[in-house]
Amino acid sequence: MEEALAKRILDAHWDKLLPVRPADIARALGMQIDVLDGPELSGEAEIRDGQQVIKFNRNESTNRQRFTMAHEIGHHVLGHVTPFSPARRDNAGSFSSGNHDWQEVQANRFAAALLMPKLAVETLVYREGITNISRLAEILRVSEAAMYYRLKNLGML
Ligand SMILES: [Zn+2]
Repeated sequence: MEEALAKRILDAHWDKLLPVRPADIARALGMQIDVLDGPELSGEAEIRDGQQVIKFNRNESTNRQRFTMAHEIGHHVLGHVTPFSPARRDNAGSFSSGNHDWQEVQANRFAAALLMPKLAVETLVYREGITNISRLAEILRVSEAAMYYRLKNLGML
């Protein structure tokens, strides 16, 4: 489900260049982007005055910021945020593969599918012959851990 949703959004709003730029996708979806500064939170998704807002912590690494944005977009498009619910607040634990909160699992799956489009990964691996995980992670601007799990989930490892 997260895979299909990410594909639909990529088909509509991705310019087909790598790396995927989650900020551009968020704007194309009409979302507003804000930054967080404190050390406690990595990201937030909320509806403010009827406007979908995503926030990311600008003090974290670029790869983390990108994953956070994609994850917060996921909370919105997966319907986890309503005008009546409090903001989704994410700290480092939200992104952990050991997190079993179903909405966090879904948002992480969505983020992985958005930042590492299936077709792009298949093209890099099978057509261009790039099988080195750190090289793939560098091209897609994700962490090596995220790249590893994506390859595994796509049945390519
Ligand atoms: Zn989350």
